[in-house]
Amino acid sequence: MIYLDNGATTFPKPEIVYHAVDEFARYNGVNAGRGAYKAAREANAMIKKVKNMLLSLIDAREQAEIAFTPSVTIALNMVINGLDYESGDVVYVSPYEHNAVLRPLHLLVKRRGIKVVELPLKDDLSIDLEHTAVMFQNEHPKLVCMTAVSNVTGYVLPAGEVFTMAKEYGAFTLLDGAQAVGLLKINFAKTKADALAFAGHKTLYAPFGIAGLYIKNGVDLAEFIVGGNGIKAENPAMPSYIPAKLESGSMDCVAIAGLAASLDWLKGVNPWQQEEGLTSYLLGRLSTVPDIIIYKAPDGAGNQAGVVSINIKGFRANEVAAILDYKYDIAVRAGHHCAGRIHHHLNNKAYDGTIRISFGMFNTRRDIDKLIDALKQIDRKILKNIDDEIIRGNC
Ligand code: PLP
Repeated sequence: MIYLDNGATTFPKPEIVYHAVDEFARYNGVNAGRGAYKAAREANAMIKKVKNMLLSLIDAREQAEIAFTPSVTIALNMVINGLDYESGDVVYVSPYEHNAVLRPLHLLVKRRGIKVVELPLKDDLSIDLEHTAVMFQNEHPKLVCMTAVSNVTGYVLPAGEVFTMAKEYGAFTLLDGAQAVGLLKINFAKTKADALAFAGHKTLYAPFGIAGLYIKNGVDLAEFIVGGNGIKAENPAMPSYIPAKLESGSMDCVAIAGLAASLDWLKGVNPWQQEEGLTSYLLGRLSTVPDIIIYKAPDGAGNQAGVVSINIKGFRANEVAAILDYKYDIAVRAGHHCAGRIHHHLNNKAYDGTIRISFGMFNTRRDIDKLIDALKQIDRKILKNIDDEIIRGNC
């Protein structure tokens, strides 16, 4: 298989991640925070070490705490539901947001009467900063949510600029770093984020099951998911301080051991350079494919991560993905990529979304050459051999 779906999860993981996961599960696999014995203390110490590694990764030491969660979706829900809203409060979202942000907000529209407003885009689909400033002035933001990198076009959004403006009105700023932490050179203070969510299994090259939040010191959130965490267990209320307030349930120490290994590995590689090189090669080669439509980041230095979407005129996105899989063993994702709003701007209704190509550290130019050859030979007749359900897709 040629795997070009790293936006969904990076695969494969570095060899040392598999090794660390196996070793921890086999020899240290006890529950952290649940026992005073040596192995439990070691698991606790590992969690602390990994949190410190994450803080160092984006220069957040002395500035933020880490709260671990099982997924970035849960982390984002915890922030969105941890704020105190009044009816009519305005929440701004970039049009590039993922359903992990949009759906919790949609519930709050119904339950709490908040208003969700999309940040404006220019013609090239970059965020219109001037217009944003005017909108914030007219309707002050309570919360501003932005993804750091679009999982549809690879656009690196100007979150720092938007959050700086939002802070003039005392807004809470939430950065979704699912496609960014580990890939972009991030300086936490410069993001102006109150909370930054990360996903272990994506650009951090760790296994599924570990994600979390960087929470700026001094920022408070109400508890959303509560339960046991081994701290002051005689008390029915959660501990009052962050991160303990936000962490409940047994932690996935096996996944955290994998994250420790991937964070070590990331110190010796340059994923941004890799993705930039592959993406510019891809864009050059895509321009030779007949009937292609390319959806990429707006032009600009440092704007484009290793995610690009395409369509082929005359085909629905899912049809192309099904053919690539069936005939060429090339794995891409087709559809809306759980980021519904941006597709209105990409104007791709006739295609039912896009075909997404997303790179990781283990892709090569040869993978791209094979993809281009396959795209040039795409033939509708092949669809006859493929199960209808697969062609319809589900996202
Ligand atoms: N945010 C972005 C930008 C994503 O790309 C994704 C996953 O694709 C998520 C959030 C949600 O991640 P998960 O399903 O791992 O919780």
